[in-house]
Amino acid sequence: ERTLLREDDPKALEFGYVAETARVDQAKYPEHQPDQQCSKCQIYEDGPDGKGGCPLFPGKLVLAGGWCSAFS
Ligand code: SF4
Repeated sequence: ERTLLREDDPKALEFGYVAETARVDQAKYPEHQPDQQCSKCQIYEDGPDGKGGCPLFPGKLVLAGGWCSAFS
């Protein structure tokens, strides 16, 4: 069973992942747009309950409303 990616996971920190796109540090990630979120990312693998897989974080689930700097 995949576990929810924690924001303090070392790799999550590396990519600036947050569970809510509204909490992205705009100063650190000026490229972030408010309407960007995991569920709109090209590599997001949609799943139930507002969570899904992301190839960047194998074995973990990310939140549909999350964001990281690898958003595409
Ligand atoms: Fe979310 Fe996309 Fe980042 Fe994966 S790569 S965590 S789906 S924004």
